[in-house]
Amino acid sequence: MEYTTQMDAARKGIITKEMEIAAKKENMDVKELMEYMAKGQVIIPCNKLHTSIEPNAIGSMLKTKINVNLGISRDWKDMDMEIEKVNNAVKMGAESIMDLSSYGDTRTFRKRLTKECPAMIGTVPIYDAVVYYHKPLKEITSKEWIDIVRMHAEDGVDFMTIHCGINKATAGRFKANRRLTNIVSRGGSIIFAWMEMTGEENPFYEHYDEILDICREYDITMSLGDACRPGCLKDASDISQIEELVTLGELTARAWEKDVQVMVEGPGHMPMNQIAANMEIQKTICKGAPFYVLGPLVTDIAPGYDHITAAIGGAIAAASGASFLCYVTPAEHLRLPSLDDVKEGIIASRIAAHAADIAKGVKGAIEWDHQMSLARKKLDWEEMFDICIDPEKARRYRAEAKPEKEDTCSMCGNFCAVKNMNRILDGEIVNIYDE
Ligand code: SF4
Repeated sequence: MEYTTQMDAARKGIITKEMEIAAKKENMDVKELMEYMAKGQVIIPCNKLHTSIEPNAIGSMLKTKINVNLGISRDWKDMDMEIEKVNNAVKMGAESIMDLSSYGDTRTFRKRLTKECPAMIGTVPIYDAVVYYHKPLKEITSKEWIDIVRMHAEDGVDFMTIHCGINKATAGRFKANRRLTNIVSRGGSIIFAWMEMTGEENPFYEHYDEILDICREYDITMSLGDACRPGCLKDASDISQIEELVTLGELTARAWEKDVQVMVEGPGHMPMNQIAANMEIQKTICKGAPFYVLGPLVTDIAPGYDHITAAIGGAIAAASGASFLCYVTPAEHLRLPSLDDVKEGIIASRIAAHAADIAKGVKGAIEWDHQMSLARKKLDWEEMFDICIDPEKARRYRAEAKPEKEDTCSMCGNFCAVKNMNRILDGEIVNIYDE
């Protein structure tokens, strides 16, 4: 039997090889995974032309996945450096790379990614249109915006952020209910400016069916962009954000009518006490479509440490129903991230995802912690290094402050509670003072 998208296959009861691979990674029965996919609650972003992909499934009942944003910009044009970051990100456990390139030969970089990279590749066609057409924003036509979507599809990308939720109605509400930090989404600000200057409807909203036809043809997952995501705590859960979310809920249903896989993007900046409620609202309005969150950053006062503010919010979001976390680096709000920033961001995001997986009871998650605890109890540093999330850093820290005795660390030395408890429970004498 033939199928168009993974969702179409699931609805027809066809188990694809991508479903088999993804189910195996999740320790889940493939038929169960297929049933979630048929309902839109699990997706496998996987363009038919991205042949190097090692597929992963995204859904709130599965292991939380993480995305890493990379790409060349006017101020950072080194393509090889960006490819090195991509390779490092995949090695460090990122399941997804979003290419946010906004300068130069973006197509060559994008094609290189889909040719070589096993992670799922996402893009934002709005950025690329501005680079590709080399003309003032106002002069880009509706057709040209959509042509870029088709070009990215042909280049093999697995998912695209499409800012189709900010239609004229949402834009009107946004203008009537002003915010502290306006629109902070890069794509959202571009399309809002285009709508203001041309007086036309958002082309991604107006020609949504045409975009869905492209997605269906190549099996591209729609990542419904949140142009109105709050950019500061003051704007969180406001009228613009919720108005846009309602539109995204309607667009989710329209995509499913054409068997197009969907995920929905979310906040942003948000106080901790609002995150769980936001996840519930999204699940209700978007009927359980996977939620892809950009943070949320739980405070605005920590530039240089936003990998931490985002990890706190990401852990709460994922434990409350989000499926996919976009990493944030310490360079957020300050500059394009360096190789070290990328590493810090990935580790922070993976910790957030893992903490949420423990809370959700994802198979195998807490067992990793139990293994680590056993190694700690044995004071087996080599085993701890092998198990931990960042062996290089853990090994370096211990080496930088060697203890006098190998079976302790320089934190407590002879006072090592772990060592002393092991010994006393084994019937040995514990002196501490003269050891
Ligand atoms: S010395 Fe202290 S910190 Fe180090 S392993 Fe022992 S109890 Fe833990």
